[in-house]
Formats: sequence, C-alpha cells, structure tokens
Amino acid sequence: MSGGDKLEFEIRPNPQPVAAAEREALLSNPGFGRIFTDHMVTIRYVEGKGWYDARVEARAPIAMDPASAVLHYAQVIFEGLKAYHAADGGVTLFRPEANAARFVESARRMAMPPLPKQAFLDSLRHLIEIDRAWLPTTEESSLYLRPFMFANEVFLGVRPAHEYLFLLIASPVGSYFAKGVQPVTVWVSPTYTRAAPGGTGAAKCGGNYAASLAAQAEAIEHDCDQVVFLDAVQRRYVDELGGMNIFFVYDDGSLVTPPLGGTILPGITRDALITLARQQGRTVVERPVAFDEWRADAASGRLREVFACGTAAVITPIGRVRYPDGEFTIADGTPGEITTGLRQTLVDIQRGRIEDVNGWIHRIP
Ligand SMILES: *Cc1c(COP(=O)(O)O)cnc(C)c1O
Repeated sequence: MSGGDKLEFEIRPNPQPVAAAEREALLSNPGFGRIFTDHMVTIRYVEGKGWYDARVEARAPIAMDPASAVLHYAQVIFEGLKAYHAADGGVTLFRPEANAARFVESARRMAMPPLPKQAFLDSLRHLIEIDRAWLPTTEESSLYLRPFMFANEVFLGVRPAHEYLFLLIASPVGSYFAKGVQPVTVWVSPTYTRAAPGGTGAAKCGGNYAASLAAQAEAIEHDCDQVVFLDAVQRRYVDELGGMNIFFVYDDGSLVTPPLGGTILPGITRDALITLARQQGRTVVERPVAFDEWRADAASGRLREVFACGTAAVITPIGRVRYPDGEFTIADGTPGEITTGLRQTLVDIQRGRIEDVNGWIHRIP
C-alpha cells in the first residue's frame, strides 16, 4: 500500500512498562536523549509491496543482520520534534506536517521510498497516546520524538535497498544544554566543511552528523561549544552549525540568515523565526554572510546579536566567535533582547500560552 491508502496500526501494549515510581524518578532529571519511553512504532517497507505491518509495541532492541545495508552504506534519515505539555494540560506538537514533508525530501535525496505523511503523523499520535505518562511537565522540558528510517536489506551490493524499516522512539528531555540558556562560543573550522553544492547538506541524514563530529571535536579542543561551518567552495560564507541554523541581528533591528540552497538544512525553527520576526514588523533578509563581514560588523558594533536555532535547543545565543587567528565577541557577549524575545515568543506558542495565528500547533486529543 504505497499510495494514499491509510496504514492501520496494530497496538501491542508493553506487558512490562516501567513502574510509575521509577518513571517519575527518571522524569525528575531527564537530561537529553538518555532515557526512553515504554513503546516504539515500527513500519516495514519492501519493494513491490510498499509500507506494511505498522505497529506500536514495547521498545526493544532490534535484531539486524550484519549485512544489513545501512551498516555499510549509511542509507538512514531521521527527524526530530517535540511534544509539549500545554498550558491547558493538553499535548501539543509544533508543525509536525513540516517534519513529515522534510522526511519525504530527505528520503528522496537518499534514494529511499517516501513514507506517506499521514503514516508519519499517525505514528506520532499513536506513540504519544500510549506513552503520555512520559511527557514531562516542567518548563523547558518536553518529549523528544525521533522518527527515523534505514535500509534494512541483507545485501552488500551498492544500490538503493529494497527493504526499509521506519521507527519512532521517544525520549523525555530537559534543557539541551546542561548550563541552560547561556551564550555559547563557536569555532570557525579552518579544516572541515559540512556540505557542498550537490551534496546532502539539505537532507537530515545520519552521515551529515558523522561527518561533523571531527569538526565538533576540533571546536572542543579550542574550548568552544559548537562548530560553525563556512561554505565548501570559497570557504568564505557562513552556512550553519553542526545541527542548528544561524541568524544575525543588526542595530536597526533587522535580521539576516543564510539562504537555503542545498547546503543548509531547511530548519523548521529557522522558518518559524523568519515568519515571527516579520510579523513583529522586522526586516528579515535571506542572503549570504561572509565571515569577514561578520567579524567587521561585530567590531563596528553594527551587529548586535547572533543566535543559533533548532528544535533541540530552540534558540541559543552566540556570544563569542573563535577562529585560528583570533576571536571576537558579539556586543558584550550576553544574550540580546531580540534573541531572548523571539525565544520567549516561540516557546509561548509551542506551549499554547499565546495565540497561534499561523496554525502551527497540532493538538493531540
Ligand atoms: C535538524 C537540523 C537543524 C534544525 O532544524 P529544526 O527543524 O529547526 O529542528 C539545523 N541544521 C541541521 C544540520 C539539522 O540537522
């Protein structure tokens, strides 16, 4: 049933869920991505048959053959979104249709079959419904949802696989950065790039992250929190961080962010912030920003704020920039007003505390 037909999910509740007292203890300090709920969703795909066997079942290890294609050629994509405990006690998702659409685009780039958007959305709903007790309720915490899919054919030949497995797991999370919302120092890598034109930069694939880890290690060696990548062709323009997009805020209140064009991941947070800032009457321009321009505008004071954004950390202020020949700070290095204000507005929309005029909030009944 690869067409528009609706997949039916078989629900098999976990016979041995985590005891309530233990769950509450885990939820009191979840950290990021280290604890998981009682269930998972699995959907299988085989060429000729399409997507089938959609299930909600006990979260458990998956048996894999050592010749499973993903272990060799990395046909794997993922998404990341959060379920929030809303002000009225309900559960909200932020623009899950956008994640479903991006999952389809990532699949195309990696020559994988697209999962129907309805199946993606239904899997989210089913898992949240069955694991509802795992949704943390404190501010800054949420249930992080991780849909992913990989080539699971037992075959060592190099071609798009004929079998795939989609999974959805969920992890209660606190704040992404252990220190909370603090400005970070970023490292401009002279060594590594993230994505080249024609490459996989716009796809949310595991390989992009594997390739960013050495650069991230280089950043940490230089006492930086995150790496910021320059374009792969001229090594001149700012692309994005390893897993977050970037915005520049100027003294006239306008914002600039690098344009999408194949080498930058089209972040849903990025897109939402462009809309929100414009609705506040700000000018937002998508244009290339050269590293030299960044440094010069920080020195002149024209550049007032810089921040990174993505689902995991929402908005992270960038206070300091380090590169092989030196470093500079953005204004006085503390979080700026526009950065903080946009963050608050976005979080308030996600938690149902202010009106959602853009229809971004998806309620789980
Ligand atoms: C996921 C991701 C982002 C942020 O996307 P959101 O949809 O805002 O979470 C930015 N850059 C990269 C490389 C990513 O993988």
